[in-house]
Amino acid sequence: MPGCGSRWNLHVHHITFRSQGGTDEPENETTVCISCHQRAIHKGYIRVTGSAPGDLVWEMGVSPIHPQIARYVNGLRVAA
Ligand SMILES: [Zn+2]
Ligand SMILES: [Zn+2]
Repeated sequence: MPGCGSRWNLHVHHITFRSQGGTDEPENETTVCISCHQRAIHKGYIRVTGSAPGDLVWEMGVSPIHPQIARYVNGLRVAA
C-alpha cells in the first residue's frame, strides 16, 4: 500500500469484497498490513479499486465531507 511499506503481519484484502461477490482470483487480491487493513480500509478511510497487481487505484482519506487527501494510480501519486 502506498505510504505504508510494512512487510509484516500482511493480510490478503479482496478488492471487491467477497460479501459483494468478489472472487479469490489474484487480480482481486492485494496484501496490506493488518493495521492498514482493519483500521483504514475496512473503516472506510482508504479505498482500493481496480485490478491487481498493475492496475490499482488507492484513494486515501475517503470521506463524504472532506476532500480526498491523496490518490495513487499504479503506485504513482496523482492529483486527488
Ligand atoms: Zn479486506
Ligand atoms: Zn500498513
